[in-house]
Amino acid sequence: MDVYGLIGNPVGHSLSPPMHEAAYDERDIAASYVTFEPDPEDIEAVFDGAQALGIAGLNVTIPFKQSVVPFVNTDPLAERVGAVNTIDFGTTPPDGYNTDVTGVRRAFQHHNVELTGTTTVIIGAGGAGRAVAVALSERASAVRIANRTVPRAEELADNFSNGSAHELSAVPELIENADILVNATSVGMEEDESPVPASALHRGLTVLDAVYRPLQTRLLRDAEEAGAETIDGAWMLLFQGVEAFEQWTGRSAPVSVMNAALREHI
Ligand code: NAP
Repeated sequence: MDVYGLIGNPVGHSLSPPMHEAAYDERDIAASYVTFEPDPEDIEAVFDGAQALGIAGLNVTIPFKQSVVPFVNTDPLAERVGAVNTIDFGTTPPDGYNTDVTGVRRAFQHHNVELTGTTTVIIGAGGAGRAVAVALSERASAVRIANRTVPRAEELADNFSNGSAHELSAVPELIENADILVNATSVGMEEDESPVPASALHRGLTVLDAVYRPLQTRLLRDAEEAGAETIDGAWMLLFQGVEAFEQWTGRSAPVSVMNAALREHI
């Protein structure tokens, strides 16, 4: 029996266990997926313990995505983001990946959205904003990052030759001629609010909301009404899990089974 899991704090409401266990069942893999909530100060002990117990792989969420970096061999994408969300203990030191980045790309690909040459607007410059910016920057012609705290947007945009930083108030103007809009803030999660005035949304725009609780955020409802294409946050969550599964097992993931399990538990 292989043991995979998630470290984070808190992890109580994680959707990863049902999503991964549905995939193990579908592929007849003898494995289980467990959540762990270690003390942030115990990160080194987590690595010793995981290796001693033969844990096969761990996903990593807040607040550990940066603090695990010194303990793993980071792949180039994880290096660029400065954060790891998937660890493979099959090697010493373990390998660290960032499947949030590949997950974003696959979410667009799954919806047949071409990224090459696009003008993209990202709202948010935290962990999710960083992963989305790295995911889009290689193919997009412009990556416009707007954030409440503008210096955070500037620091992120400086990493990309096609990046620029903006205030939130500039978003309506920024999306006027844009192809892709991503909300990578937590706005829309607690309250029925949108980071973008509905009147600024338009046909021809594809809108991805990283928020997945609720699935139908105010932003996505407004976007749909404006005739824009919409991609909910569960797709991003799904494909980071799909990528982790494939990295760990070397097998293709049962995407539709994982998607159904995820949506059933949201
Ligand atoms: P984070 O690192 O804490 O960053 C939070 C971001 O939200 C920052 O840009 C912050 O701006 C902004 N923000 C927070 N409250 C705001 C407000 N009232 N008005 C405007 N901006 C506000 O968090 P994160 O990890 O990036 O997560 C952000 C969201 O993405 C969360 O809802 C999370 O659940 C979601 N997420 C989804 C996935 C997925 O797979 N679908 C993956 C990761 C995260 P400041 O810099 O000004 O504070």
